[in-house]
Amino acid sequence: MSSMEQLYQQLILDHAKDPHGKGLAEGHDAESFQVNPTCGDEVRLRVHLAAADAPTVDRVSWEGQGCSISQASVSVMSELVTGASVEEAEQLGETFRALMQSRGEGLDEAAEDRLGDATAFTGVAKYPARIKCALLGWAALRDALVQASAATTKKEEER
Ligand code: ZN
Repeated sequence: MSSMEQLYQQLILDHAKDPHGKGLAEGHDAESFQVNPTCGDEVRLRVHLAAADAPTVDRVSWEGQGCSISQASVSVMSELVTGASVEEAEQLGETFRALMQSRGEGLDEAAEDRLGDATAFTGVAKYPARIKCALLGWAALRDALVQASAATTKKEEER
């Protein structure tokens, strides 16, 4: 194993042990529950938005159980998208999905810079069975953001 892989593995273990954003919070704009039946991973994720010039992810709170990869991935994702605009958060999700389709080869430097710690999951993309574990939290985020923006649109129409 290369030292880079060891570093990545350590980062995943650290996040699994001491997850960021874990514990559901009240006052959320949308919630999504996702399961990965092949591995038994679960995540219930809430997004809390702040209305600035562009809607922003103020907070991500979640509860979950399952393998280290699934739980660490939600944790890294929570950290990464907090403070990002909804549009940026959705783009980060697209970039992470591209990373998971890279078969472990990774993305260009600019894309990896944007993903930060989430690039630690690069090696996971070599194992098709584990890709769903890494994507679980991101799927919950995407679903919650779609719900939240649908709710906002509805409120605006009613005004
Ligand atoms: Zn898993």
